Amino acid sequence: MRHLNSLTVYKPIGRNQDYCAEFVMNQFPLAALRVYVRNHYDKENLELASEMVEEIRENLIETFMQSTWLHENTRMRAIRKAELMKKVIGYPPEFEVPGALDSFFESVTFSETDSYFTTFKKADKLYKEQYFDYHSGFLSIEPDIVFVKSGAHYRPWENRLTLQIPFIDDPYFDSTYPKYAKIAGIGEVIGHEMGHGFDTEGRKLDENGGKNDWWTLEDSAEYDRKTQCLIDQYNNYDDPDFGKNLNGSKTVAEMAADLIGISVSWKTYNKVDFSKEPSIFGFEDEKPDKLFFHITALVILNV
Ligand SMILES: [Zn+2]
Repeated sequence: MRHLNSLTVYKPIGRNQDYCAEFVMNQFPLAALRVYVRNHYDKENLELASEMVEEIRENLIETFMQSTWLHENTRMRAIRKAELMKKVIGYPPEFEVPGALDSFFESVTFSETDSYFTTFKKADKLYKEQYFDYHSGFLSIEPDIVFVKSGAHYRPWENRLTLQIPFIDDPYFDSTYPKYAKIAGIGEVIGHEMGHGFDTEGRKLDENGGKNDWWTLEDSAEYDRKTQCLIDQYNNYDDPDFGKNLNGSKTVAEMAADLIGISVSWKTYNKVDFSKEPSIFGFEDEKPDKLFFHITALVILNV
């Protein structure tokens, strides 16, 4: 792969190693995921992150139940979609079976005598085979470099939430952190990604990710009226770097997801019994609400 990389990839001075690693990660994302998890990841975080997704889900469902404007039919469909939302914490459980990922690569053998063309064709063939396996249902996640990068994502057509491994790790999340710091660290992002199932585009898909309008006409009109408020609010923000006002209609799906994310994360945070949690060194005097917005803002800046 290093040889292939030297022939094909433009490498800025001083970044050769990064580029080589990124090239291999792009070509073999699932193998990269395996190496990363095996050598650099504390698996205790997987279970805790999974529990946190369930807590955020419960609070999202509670938000729907407490809604003052959703009618019963729309409310039940929204709850159903949240309940049936699939979750992948790092990678699917079947990847945990010893040798599971290794078996994906059994058919590939590189040789020192392979030409550049042969090496490239072999690598590309494997990548495409894995994509076809994913689309055929034999592989539950796609071979995509996103799984090795920090963050989380939501696939609307599968109604699937994924927390990527580097995101459920230090500094955003760790088993040793107090519970409130864990929620403030990744709660908004989990809520935001779940929120994409109910943003201006996601709400047009059902619990299986199929195109299906499950909103009553009245609730749909009310949703549009509420999102128009968000658009108007954003249109009035003046961005001095950009030199003009922002355009809320371009970003309304992200704004809707953000609003859902921060609301459900805040709801979850407020249920923590602070008397049972240790304080964070240097933050002993900080009020809990300030700490939440402080940590949440820091994480959003970095993800
Ligand atoms: Zn988003």
